[in-house]
Amino acid sequence: MNLKSILRDFTDLLFPRCCESCDVVLVGNEETICTACRISLPRVGNKGLNEELLQYKFVNVPQVVSTHSFLLFTKKGKVQRLLHALKYKGNKDVGILLGYMFGQEMLTSGCLPDAEIILSIPLHKKKQKARGYNQSDLLAEGFSKATGIPWSGSILERTRHTATQTGKTKIERRENVKGVFVIKEKISYQSVIIMDDVLTTGATLEECAETLLAAGCREIYIATIALAQH
Ligand SMILES: [Zn+2]
Repeated sequence: MNLKSILRDFTDLLFPRCCESCDVVLVGNEETICTACRISLPRVGNKGLNEELLQYKFVNVPQVVSTHSFLLFTKKGKVQRLLHALKYKGNKDVGILLGYMFGQEMLTSGCLPDAEIILSIPLHKKKQKARGYNQSDLLAEGFSKATGIPWSGSILERTRHTATQTGKTKIERRENVKGVFVIKEKISYQSVIIMDDVLTTGATLEECAETLLAAGCREIYIATIALAQH
């Protein structure tokens, strides 16, 4: 046992750290999410990923080559707790860790896209200022750390704040987000991974994909941390 781990165990005694997913007290070198949760968080499909079932969401955009979601979002479930901690409790570590776990599982399952860059879905400036960060940037950062694919959170910009998409059909959602993204600098990427937190109908991601295709991209890969049933 080295000095660092003795100190950590000592501070853990005084200030117990808890799992952001299940509240159990973290021990030893556990960080943010306990080992049991890391293993048992509900994955979307085989190997923790599911391509075929999700791909139909983007049938309108044939250049979307693959779609991957990592965890299954259920109301009041562990994944909802983690996303809540990430979006509303300021816990940035949750984002980096989930992105990292996602990237690792994509790598080991052999389905990591051969893309040049990861672009995170941007928040509107006002929303980002209020939150202090964009949660999708953190997911992209973690994913990048695991896979070695570079990421950027500053190429895309959201030009307006859109009303909530909840309760709208996909067609209404597409209308709602039409023209919402702009590209801030000239890009020459041919293959891009778009990273977002939750996939529902895919309307926002589809709009983002169209924006990138109009700028000359040829292959789009969608990656989201969670899949929501809607
Ligand atoms: Zn836990």
